[in-house]
Amino acid sequence: MTPVRVSERNWAGNLAYGAEHVAHPETVEELQELVAGAGKIRALGSRHSFNDIADTAGVLAALDRLDPEIAVDAANRTVTVSGGTLYGTAAAELQRQGFALHNLASLPHISIAGAVATATHGSGDTNGNLATAVAGLEMVTADGSLLAALRGETPDFEGMVVGLGALGIVTRLTLDIEPAFEVAQTVFEKPAWDQVLADFDAVTSSAYSVSLFTDWSGAAAGQAWLKRRTTDPSGPAAADFFGGTPAAEAQHPIPGVAGSTCSEQLGIPGPWSDRLAHFRMEHMPSKGDELQSEYLVPREHAVDAIRTMRSLSHLVTPLLLISEIRTVAADNLWMSPNYGRDGIALHFTWQPDQQRVEALLPVIEAALAPFRARPHWGKLFTSDASGLAPLYPRFGDFVALATAMDPEEKFRNGFLRRTVFNHR
Ligand SMILES: Cc1cc2nc3c(=O)[nH]c(=O)nc-3n(C[C@H](O)[C@H](O)[C@H](O)COP(=O)(O)OP(=O)(O)OC[C@H]3O[C@@H](n4cnc5c(N)ncnc54)[C@H](O)[C@@H]3O)c2cc1C
Repeated sequence: MTPVRVSERNWAGNLAYGAEHVAHPETVEELQELVAGAGKIRALGSRHSFNDIADTAGVLAALDRLDPEIAVDAANRTVTVSGGTLYGTAAAELQRQGFALHNLASLPHISIAGAVATATHGSGDTNGNLATAVAGLEMVTADGSLLAALRGETPDFEGMVVGLGALGIVTRLTLDIEPAFEVAQTVFEKPAWDQVLADFDAVTSSAYSVSLFTDWSGAAAGQAWLKRRTTDPSGPAAADFFGGTPAAEAQHPIPGVAGSTCSEQLGIPGPWSDRLAHFRMEHMPSKGDELQSEYLVPREHAVDAIRTMRSLSHLVTPLLLISEIRTVAADNLWMSPNYGRDGIALHFTWQPDQQRVEALLPVIEAALAPFRARPHWGKLFTSDASGLAPLYPRFGDFVALATAMDPEEKFRNGFLRRTVFNHR
């Protein structure tokens, strides 16, 4: 008998999940029973990944109906959230109570558990990716039992946080928080590449979070987005930013898309929760009809990697909606693309032509290989486990941890077999 498959898709619509069905457990106990009785099972977050990392041949467990929880512990400066919580929901509640997360991704619509599992990041020289805020987590492991893991206490904790969904289904996360702060965001148009590359460190350290948007062609980068904490000593943004001038109205990173869907700009100060992401919670982020890829390159190769990408503009620009360049601080999470090294992130928002994008990715990957570029786990890339393993000092330890925690390979899917477990 041909098994019935779900007809559900990821956010971008480029992937039809191959699962038998999507379950929506409402309690942790229900989820424990589901996992204990499952053959193959994976957690499904808010479906914003572009590859098959979340897919399974068995059951997809969506935590969107799990008992909601956003519990602030003011004394310990942490917040504990349930497994289905979205960043936008948590950010609004934290701001209401006078607290903040250290950073957000470009969009607030993603689930915290799903973003942490793939080492999702924002920008900022001193900002680790979003997973670096994880102080503790609880997950349902392969046999249905509940495991609580704490930073500084649980052995292999640093291997569990960016878990790629391979270790269990995370039901609660505890994140570091800090007092709420205000951010003023200014967009500069057309900073000159020669000035940007002449002093790249000055560019990326000019605000708490800096993003450059470019299509790689021409003498100027398209836009620089500066998110400045209003208490920063650097003061308000200057009138000239490496040859770029302040935009007179709200901008969208993708040419031709309305800036009104983006977070407040024009240097108007406001809550971190409304400024650190580029896109507003109440609007469609980015463009929707698109694909994405991203590669993390060690900081010391930033300028050379950007020069390399500009030299490939004749191949890349025609397929591109926009690229974004960000910085991410080093961390110690085993499967994080920022493990052990400060880095820059070279992001590509592609036109929705998967065949042509996938034909081009090996060219980009070969060009960035000398810089030991590591791909974003949740976006399109073509490297396999044999190519990725040498890039991650703790890769073998992660394989051993996942094998010990999931001996029957319940959480193992095609993505993990291709990119993690087939490296010898
Ligand atoms: C428009 C857009 C903008 C983006 N911007 C950024 C950006 O600024 N920075 C960046 O780094 N990335 C960005 N991304 C990528 C995105 O952050 C990642 O793909 C992220 O993993 C999405 O989270 P999700 O909840 O949708 O996860 P899903 O795609 O649903 O799942 C991703 C992985 O997480 C696992 N997972 C989900 N929930 C759990 C759980 N409870 N327990 C265990 N594992 C779980 C899944 O099994 C899967 O392996 C963007 C994506 C889109 C569509």
